[in-house]
Amino acid sequence: MRAWAVDRPGPMGSRPLRIVERPVPVPRPGEVLVRVEACGVCRTDLHLAEGDLAPRRPLTTPGHQVVGRVVRPGGSDGGRVGVAWLRSTCGSCRYCLRDSENLCPRSTYTGWDADGGFAEYLTAPAAYVYPLPEDVPAGRLAPLLCAGIVGYRALLRCDLPPGGRLGVYGFGASAHLTAQAAIARGAVVHVVTRSPAHRELALELGAASALDRPPEPLDAAILFAPSGDLVPAALEALDRGGTLAVAGIHLTDIPSLNYDRHLFQERTLRSVTANTREDGRAYLDLVRTHPPVVRSVSYAFEDVDQALTDLSNDQVKGAAVMHVS
Ligand SMILES: [Zn+2]
Ligand SMILES: [Zn+2]
Repeated sequence: MRAWAVDRPGPMGSRPLRIVERPVPVPRPGEVLVRVEACGVCRTDLHLAEGDLAPRRPLTTPGHQVVGRVVRPGGSDGGRVGVAWLRSTCGSCRYCLRDSENLCPRSTYTGWDADGGFAEYLTAPAAYVYPLPEDVPAGRLAPLLCAGIVGYRALLRCDLPPGGRLGVYGFGASAHLTAQAAIARGAVVHVVTRSPAHRELALELGAASALDRPPEPLDAAILFAPSGDLVPAALEALDRGGTLAVAGIHLTDIPSLNYDRHLFQERTLRSVTANTREDGRAYLDLVRTHPPVVRSVSYAFEDVDQALTDLSNDQVKGAAVMHVS
């Protein structure tokens, strides 16, 4: 089979990925073999390619928003599934036992600890894949598996009150899905982005504003842009008692904060770390009843590095998805 592998992590201009030929992987006990239909391209894949997240093993295949079909032993079809970022947890540590498996110190991740979905096949633990509907195009499902699920966890973590005012900083793949989930739940959403294309999309999807700064104090906010420089302004835009959740796995340094301007009046700054399987199931249930508009841009298998380059240049309007033909 063909697979993309991170050869030498570095800027996309240095071509850190290459296509390799490999045997189709053999599932271990408890795992399934999945034939990839499509795989979403996430900012985390870019961090892995560029080395912002250090590689955990050589020549790993990234990709963790896989829509595919289970290939049963003997070759029969085992149905459509999604393979997401959380690949496994230990099931017995204090975090796993208190329903916080996203914090498990022994958790492993698709496309980082094991080969992911920028390939024709991958294996995944059966207990961590999600059943997916047969009647929805793969390009609409793939972005839900990380951009959607992790954004949904960020929405839970920012403690938005019912009908509250939510700030969304940055408007890439995850933000555009999360804004729609928030609107479906009755929120007033203010999007902060400088990109004219992203502003236009935000307003089309129902945002109340898309400007340089929110026009009213916010009950909660989610920072999707991986820029710590935005944290002070986002905290300052919060109303009393508001919470800012940082959705990304990677953030540049946060400048120093002023207690009065940025934190006093019980404002809260918190991170979001991956997701639990329960978050994944809850989000995939929500989208069955409230299907979001998914703006995706299709790339051929051979063009994964182009998709990552476009992502690094902020040139993808919506979510990038690689399709295996
Ligand atoms: Zn654990
Ligand atoms: Zn992701």
